[in-house]
Amino acid sequence: MKYKNRFLLSLVCMVFYAVLSAQPAFQVVPLGVKGGMAENNLSAYMLAPAGDNRFICLDAGTVHAGLEKAVAKKTFRQPVSVVLKTYLKAYFISHGHLDHLAGMVINSPEDSVKNIYAMPYVLKVLRDKYFSWQSWANFADSGEAPLLKKYHYKTLDTIAEVPVENTDLFVKTFILSHGTGYNSTAFLVRHQEAFALYLGDTGADTIEHSSRLLQLWQAIAPLVKAKQLKGIFIETSFPNQQPDNQLFGHLTPKLLMHEMGVLHQLCGGGNILQDLPLIVTHIKPAGNNEADIKKQLKQNNPFKMKLVFPKQGKRILL
Ligand SMILES: [Zn+2]
Ligand SMILES: [Zn+2]
Repeated sequence: MKYKNRFLLSLVCMVFYAVLSAQPAFQVVPLGVKGGMAENNLSAYMLAPAGDNRFICLDAGTVHAGLEKAVAKKTFRQPVSVVLKTYLKAYFISHGHLDHLAGMVINSPEDSVKNIYAMPYVLKVLRDKYFSWQSWANFADSGEAPLLKKYHYKTLDTIAEVPVENTDLFVKTFILSHGTGYNSTAFLVRHQEAFALYLGDTGADTIEHSSRLLQLWQAIAPLVKAKQLKGIFIETSFPNQQPDNQLFGHLTPKLLMHEMGVLHQLCGGGNILQDLPLIVTHIKPAGNNEADIKKQLKQNNPFKMKLVFPKQGKRILL
């Protein structure tokens, strides 16, 4: 009888766990998805735990136009200004390029008090180049005086996971190589036991002569194996026909899948990556690039990952 009870209890636990793990852990609202040209649709991803309206914004190339789209699509049932001022709690900026931060700078007069989390090499660009009185107004809390102190710079490092103020999220940071001598950042976001990985612009280790991605894959492999990683946001800027010497620190479908091969091996191979959402960001929309990149990824997806092509303003559940 005792054994039977114990058996029943473990069965109930297993069912409970299965139901729990089938529930989405995160909601993502892309405010911008492209890697160039379309200044109203550049890299910016709002992310929160599912069912929680306290978001962080991973990069902020486009903000207002993305929020307008999200409100028009009824992704948010509040006006743009309310979402911007009350739902959005903090920015995480991956690197200093305009297509990852212009929306934040332009919208700063209408924004509420927030933290900007970034590595020192990104905060330096914000402080010296954008929130300076020659290019804009200094809405931040350091740099050229006078300081308007709406935004608080929060310096990240790669040592420890940090709690994100005013949210239930935690973030661990990794350095990426984005062209010779230029760094970008990846953010590993955690809510309870679930993780989502967002990469800013990055080149492939083979092209960059770097081991930044290898180190990142080593760090997340245990999370993939434990099914705790709910998705990877990663760029594919150019199609395969882009020559290696004109990648400018970016990925192609072939290079992306090569990197996924490294991750696959570190996770022990087999079907470990099958159905893991791979959210393809930062497509540069010149010429036929968009169609080519999608086709090339679909034709070469050896680990059967779930390819997701995000749309501005449309919620993604992970
Ligand atoms: Zn970019
Ligand atoms: Zn860039």
